Amino acid sequence: MLYDTIVVGAGIAGCSVAYFLKQKDQKVLLIDKAEIASGGSGAAGAFLSPKIGVSSPLKDLTDEAFAFTIDFYEKNFPHYYHKTGVIRVPKDEIDASKTSKYSKFHNAKYEELTPSKISQYGFNVRYNSTLFFDGGTCDAKEICTQLTKDIDFLCLNVGNITKIDDIWIVGDVRAKNIILSTGFENNLFDMRYMGIKGTWGNRGDFSSQLSLDVSMHESLSISANMGGVIKLGATHELEVMDKKPCDDSKSYELLEKASNIIDTSDFKLIKTYCGMRSGSRDFAPVVGKVIDVKRMFEYPYILDGRKYPILYHENLFILNGLGARGFVLAPYLGNELANLIVEKKPMDKRADSDRLFWNWVRKVK
Ligand SMILES: Cc1cc2nc3c(=O)[nH]c(=O)nc-3n(C[C@H](O)[C@H](O)[C@H](O)COP(=O)(O)OP(=O)(O)OC[C@H]3O[C@@H](n4cnc5c(N)ncnc54)[C@H](O)[C@@H]3O)c2cc1C
Repeated sequence: MLYDTIVVGAGIAGCSVAYFLKQKDQKVLLIDKAEIASGGSGAAGAFLSPKIGVSSPLKDLTDEAFAFTIDFYEKNFPHYYHKTGVIRVPKDEIDASKTSKYSKFHNAKYEELTPSKISQYGFNVRYNSTLFFDGGTCDAKEICTQLTKDIDFLCLNVGNITKIDDIWIVGDVRAKNIILSTGFENNLFDMRYMGIKGTWGNRGDFSSQLSLDVSMHESLSISANMGGVIKLGATHELEVMDKKPCDDSKSYELLEKASNIIDTSDFKLIKTYCGMRSGSRDFAPVVGKVIDVKRMFEYPYILDGRKYPILYHENLFILNGLGARGFVLAPYLGNELANLIVEKKPMDKRADSDRLFWNWVRKVK
């Protein structure tokens, strides 16, 4: 069968874009070397909150995505998004001194809370913090599964993608378009200009009767109590190339940190998750067409700094580099990418991976 689009990688990125393409009546095949949400997405605490800081392209993009995605999850997957509110706690004195300064840049509904007010929610913190009412947490694996429930799935470790007569070939299957959403393993084509790197992290799910109605995020995230389960999560080991050992000691490290913030006396570990999230050279998402680096380097003076029209791999696309906010950004950007592929709407410049190319060429020299 000839598919319209094959999506390689079934994390929240691949599942989201597959969903929006299917909505546009495309024949879509989703491929993963393991099961759905078996990479970073399955490990994620999947907290959703807006970005704090002064206005910037990445902050504005993230906030637009936050508004879009909350609405999307609530309308389509209400059982898997828990709008608990998220309290964002400054991690140190310097961070705390900026809380009020940043408030005029918030685009989502919020309230500033003192430590004594926050203690009424069950958290012991030192600094004034910000409660975002629409924030919350989703069930990571279930959301990915629901997004793709009507979509063909193939379990295959893709090692090679070729093209004959404008048709892409992956193993025994064929398609007009390919989307790469392989997370930190971004090596199926020469995409060094995007500078994708991994950050390793852990999540521990604990059973507890602690009454906790709101989620919070500091250097670790603590979820509200959802049916007797509280999630603790953090990603912290930067620029990791390979997966690391994963055992329960990681969850107990998170538990020890959490015990300074909440009463963890009845916590019992249910399961430990570990995974990698991927970030780009400038920490913003990389979405859109993929540049054909080999053909670009055939231009005679490209290494001398001369710029030329960009040449792409025809009908090859990427959705990656979602950083610590995959569950916020993926539905929004998955929709944008589906619009580019089907309706030829230009990609949002803030996410378009082209922005990274010329700087990288300068450094190659
Ligand atoms: C511990 C932890 C906590 C996190 N907490 C949050 C949070 O609270 N909120 C939030 O929004 N985000 C969070 N994140 C980040 C979020 O998980 C990522 O942004 C998200 O997973 C990125 O999704 P992805 O689809 O790009 O990558 P992944 O989920 O890693 O998916 C990539 C997929 O590609 C597949 N693949 C790779 N190469 C191949 C190949 N050659 N052939 C076939 N398949 C291939 C992999 O098997 C994998 O399933 C967290 C991450 C971690 C690790």
